[in-house]
Formats: sequence, C-alpha cells, structure tokens
Amino acid sequence: MQLANISGRLALVTGQGGIDVAAASGGRFGHDPQAVYGQWQEFRRWADDAASRGAAVTDEAVPIEERELGAPAPRPAQVFAIGMNYRDHAAETGLEAPATPATFTKFPTCLTAPFADVVLPSEFVDWEVELVVVIGARAHHVTSSGAWDHVAGVTVGQDLSERVVQISGGGQFSLGKSFPGFGPTGPWLVTPDELHDPDDLELSCSVDGREVQKSRTSQMVFGVPELIARLSAVLPLLPGDLIFTGTPAGIGATRQPPQFLRPGQVLTSYLEGAGTIANRLIAPPA
Ligand code: ZN
Repeated sequence: MQLANISGRLALVTGQGGIDVAAASGGRFGHDPQAVYGQWQEFRRWADDAASRGAAVTDEAVPIEERELGAPAPRPAQVFAIGMNYRDHAAETGLEAPATPATFTKFPTCLTAPFADVVLPSEFVDWEVELVVVIGARAHHVTSSGAWDHVAGVTVGQDLSERVVQISGGGQFSLGKSFPGFGPTGPWLVTPDELHDPDDLELSCSVDGREVQKSRTSQMVFGVPELIARLSAVLPLLPGDLIFTGTPAGIGATRQPPQFLRPGQVLTSYLEGAGTIANRLIAPPA
C-alpha cells in the first residue's frame, strides 16, 4: 500500500490516482495524514479491504500532481536521525563507524514536501539521501526480530545539512540539520510488504542530474531492525515518528574541493520501491 498527503489530506495511491481516505471511508478515518498512524492497525485492515473491492474505489481516484504532495508524516512527535551509519560515509569523513548508533534529532519544523523549494541559508548546505522510517505502532523495548512489525512504512528523505553550524560549538548536528526545509520526505509512504527486500534497497541522489550518491541500505552499519531495537531500548518510539537512517558516501563537504548546493540547482533523491523526490534550491529573499 502507498499512502500520500495530497494538499493536506490523506490519500491512498493507486494506479488510477489518489483516493481521498476520509471520503472513501465515510469519515471513519479523518483527513489528517499524521493522525492515521495513531490508528494504524485499524487503518491497514480497512485499506486492505478497500483494495480488495478494487473497482468500487477507483471511480473516486483523482490524478496526483507533484506540487500538491505534502510530507507523508508531516507532524511527528519525534524525529530521530543517525550519523555515520554507512561505513563508506564514515570513512570519507575520516572517522570510524561508531559502535552504537550516533543519534541526533531533526527538529520537526524542518520537514517539508517532497517537491518543495528549499531556501539555502548559507553557501555551506550539503546533501544526504536517506531511507526514512515511519513508525506505525508504539515501540518500547522491541527486539530487532520484531522491529519491522512496528513500522508503518518507508519513504525517501533528504537530511539537508548546513556544515558550518553542524560542526560549530563542538558539534551541533540537530541545529545544523534543522533549518526550515531541511527535511523533505516523500513522495509517499510505502508499506514494507510492498518492498522487494526492505533491508536491501538501492538509494541515490543527484544534483542537476549528476549522480553524487549511490548505495544500498544493506550497507548500513545498523540496519532498520537494529536501529529500532537500540532506540527503543532507551525510549518509546511513537506512531508517526520518523527515523532518518543515515547517508552513504558521496556528500559534498568531503570532496576536493568541497562542493555545496547552489541556488537554482535541483536535488533529486531516490529510494528503490518508494520513488523519487526533487527539491529546487533557492536563495533567501533579499
Ligand atoms: Zn544524515
């Protein structure tokens, strides 16, 4: 199942277009894309049943316009992000892969739509394509073997990073990665059962069509199940929470010479089975 935020309304994504969930369910589920994660099991049963009815719902499908899409989980209570979670990325920064997940937060006001323009606050903004997990069931003290059962789905994300702020003051990852627009996600949520292998998905990103990152999620130091186990050993993960799971090698800051995003460029990010998002970078208003 694929689930989108279309102009702020929850919608099922079908081959024929988007189906408004509030309308199709007769109000059983509301229009708020974030609220559905609090009723996830009930919603999955209804959606699976709606899918099996097939033709009855495709009449209501409307074409999906990229610019109408919003973040699939736009207002999470918590947003976790993991640093140095691919060995090749740790190596390019000159650091050892950590023995425990290097966790920080992206403050939720940084989240934006999958095709939103993003304002560059400085000349030192860098790209990081990532698989983003959306939690579907409260997870506290969960084992890695049961972890995927607590996941609603995955989506594509960019952990945009202002590298000067990030390393200032001894390291301020959360602040440097939380300027407005620094967390585009989408284009929609894909449930794990739709993925060929949820632990081995290709991901890549490009700047103006030039590929800068390409890897597979099987190359993570801590895969999704292990991240959920380790995080939930400390605190509960709540329905609708996000986990940005780390980025592979190919960031701009460690290149010679360093490369950063420029106004007018388009950053395109891909995750196998989930799709592609694209964000145009723009200069701050004068
Ligand atoms: Zn990152």
